[in-house]
Amino acid sequence: MDTQLIYVNGQWRPSGSRAVIEAVNPATEEVVGLVPDGVPADVDEAVAAARAALPRWSALPAGERARYLRALRRELLATRDAFAEAITAEMGAPIEFARRVQTGLPLRALGALLDALPAASEPDRHGHSVVYRDPVGVVAALTPWNYPLNQMLVKVAAALAVGCTVVLKPSELAPLSAVLLARTLHDIGLPPGVFNLVAGRGSAVGAALAGHPGVDMVSFTGSTAAGRQVAALAAANVTRVSLELGGKSACVLLDDADFPAAVADGVASCLMNSGQTCTALSRMLVPENRYDQTLDRVVELMAGHRIGDPRDPATRLGPLVTAAARDRLADRLARARAQGAHWRDGAGGQALPERGYFVAPGALAVRDPALPVVREELFAPVLCVLPYATEEDALALANDSPYGLAGAVWSADVARARAFARGMCTGRVDINGAKLNPAAPFGGRRQSGYGYELGGYGLAEFQVYQAVQLPSDAGDPGA
Ligand code: NAD
Repeated sequence: MDTQLIYVNGQWRPSGSRAVIEAVNPATEEVVGLVPDGVPADVDEAVAAARAALPRWSALPAGERARYLRALRRELLATRDAFAEAITAEMGAPIEFARRVQTGLPLRALGALLDALPAASEPDRHGHSVVYRDPVGVVAALTPWNYPLNQMLVKVAAALAVGCTVVLKPSELAPLSAVLLARTLHDIGLPPGVFNLVAGRGSAVGAALAGHPGVDMVSFTGSTAAGRQVAALAAANVTRVSLELGGKSACVLLDDADFPAAVADGVASCLMNSGQTCTALSRMLVPENRYDQTLDRVVELMAGHRIGDPRDPATRLGPLVTAAARDRLADRLARARAQGAHWRDGAGGQALPERGYFVAPGALAVRDPALPVVREELFAPVLCVLPYATEEDALALANDSPYGLAGAVWSADVARARAFARGMCTGRVDINGAKLNPAAPFGGRRQSGYGYELGGYGLAEFQVYQAVQLPSDAGDPGA
C-alpha cells in the first residue's frame, strides 16, 4: 500500500513535500508503505479546509452526524480484517490481538460514543440559565502508534459527533491504518473538509498543528515528553489542549487476594500488545511473604507467552515497534542491573537475535522503589515486581510515581479493594481483573496528562459551554 498524498477537503492531493516516510514492519524490517513527510504548508491547507467546513457541519442536528458515525461503524465492521492486517504490518501487534482488541476496542468505543450523543447534545437548565453545548471548533488530533485505530477513532469520532471538524496527524510509525481510516471516511460520504489527514513527523506536522492559530483544540495522545512540547506550543495561542500520556501503573495484590488469578491477570496486562500499552500494569506490588513464589509464577507465566511472527494466530508477543525502542530498552535495563535490580530468569529483556525488533519478556525483581526503572515507562514486556510490608506501604508505593494513569487491586474483600482503589491517585482502577468500560471516562492524572476520552466524557472534551441567563419575565420557554 503506497500513498504519497494527504487527504484535504475530501480529496487526496500531493503533499508540499517530496520527501517520504517509510513504514517499516518491525517483525520483518521490510518497508510496507510510504507516506509523505508532510510540511507546515500541508497543515495550513488542511486547517483552512477544516475551518471552511465547520459552519455547516456544526449546524447539522446531532442525529444527522450520528448517521455518518453509524455508517462508519458498519464500514469498520465490514473491513475489520483489513485494518487488523495493516496494524500488524505497521506496528507488529500479533494478528489475533489485532483482530480482537486493536479493532474490537474502537468499535466498542464508537458504540459508546453514539449511545452518549443524544444526552450530550441537549442544553441544560440551571435556574434562570440555559447552558448550551457548542463544538470547540477545529480539532487537531495527534495520535500514537501503539493502538493506532483506537487512538485515532476515539478522538476523531468524538470530535465529529459533537460538530467539530478535524485535522488528524497519525503517528509516522503507523500510517497505514490512518490511510485506511481516511478512505473509509471518504467512502461513507463525509462532507469535504470535515475530516482531513496530514501524515508526517511530530517535529514538523505535529508541531505546526499544535501551534496553529486556526486550530481551536489539540487532542494529543503520546509520550509525556512530546505532550509537554505540544502544550507549550498551544499555549502561544491559548489553544485548548487535552493530553493522554504515559504511565507506570501498579497492580497491587493485597494479602487476601486470589493470587493465581491476580498474577495471571497482572502478567497478561503487562505483556499485552508486547508490553506497549499506556495502561500496562508494569509494576506488581506483592506482600513480602509471597514475594519469591510470586516471582517464580510470573516467570513461569511469561514463558508461556509465545513470541514470534505476528501473522501467526498462535503468537502472543510480537516485536517492539522500532530498533530505537529496542536499543533504548537495552540501555535502561543495563542501568537498572548496575543499580541493583536483577532478573528472576536469565533471558528477560534481551534482544532476540532473529530478524525484527523482538525482546524476551522478563520479570525484574526490584527492592528499591527509587530506582529509575520503577518510575519510568519502559514500554516493553518487562514487569517490575516489588515487595511491600503493610497495606499502607502498598498504597504509598503504588502512588510513588510521576504518573497517574491506571492501576489494579486484588482482594477477596471487594469493599477493602474499593477503599484501597479510592486511595490510588490514578484515573482508572480495576478491581479483581474488572475490564475497561468504554462508557466510563479514560484519562490520567499527574504526568499522565489531563482530559478524558470515551463515552459522554469523551464527547464533553470537545464541547464548550454558553450560559444564557433569561430575565425573570421570560417565563419558562424550555431549554
Ligand atoms: P510520541 O509522543 O512519540 O508521539 C505521539 C504523536 O505525537 C505522534 O503522532 C508524533 O508524531 C507526535 N509528536 C511527537 N513529538 C511532537 C511534537 N514535538 N509536537 C507535536 N507532535 C509531536 O508517542 P508514541 O511513541 O507514538 O506513543 C507511545 C506513548 O504514547 C507512550 O508514552 C504511551 O504511554 C502513550 N500513550 C498514551 C495513551 C493514553 O491514552 N494515555 C494511549 C496510548 C499511548
